[in-house]
Amino acid sequence: MSSIKQINHVAIVVKDIDDALCFWEDALGLKVTHVENIPEQDALVAFLSTGEAEIELVKPMDKDSSVAHYLSKRGPGIHHICFEVDDIEACLDKLRAHDVHLINPEPVVGTGGKRVAFIHPESTHGVLVELYELTEQEPEIRLSRVRALADRAIFEGQVATASVLKFLRGIRYRATSEERSTPTSEES
Ligand code: ZN
Repeated sequence: MSSIKQINHVAIVVKDIDDALCFWEDALGLKVTHVENIPEQDALVAFLSTGEAEIELVKPMDKDSSVAHYLSKRGPGIHHICFEVDDIEACLDKLRAHDVHLINPEPVVGTGGKRVAFIHPESTHGVLVELYELTEQEPEIRLSRVRALADRAIFEGQVATASVLKFLRGIRYRATSEERSTPTSEES
């Protein structure tokens, strides 16, 4: 029997992450915990911690992506709500049994390597809903992805603007000092 554990994050589509951080980080005081480029969705995302749940800022990186279409049609605003579930397959089976319109009938790989599936807003009374099953490898995958982005952003001058760069520099510094104290065999 599958169950919903909690709200994992609420995603907000923005035109510019740095601009959005002027409110979400500087004024409201939330801290950026993760930044990731998602090629499958042509989007750059930044996660901010609010205790258990997170806010996900989503910036489309390609004007033909579905997120870019959403932004140009509706403007910035709430894009989806994500629930963490303990068994995503069982949850999808149950939704299918209720004739719910699933955008992803099978789980796909999302940010941080987690298993995700989206439910169509026509079945949810207008809200795009994401389901997310935690994987044990997520902390490692998250770190390796953010470091890959940091390397690209810093050495190739891509992607980043000031606030994102500041966060990425911190990640690189943190990763480097952790390696010095506790060497691991994981990716370089
Ligand atoms: Zn999400």
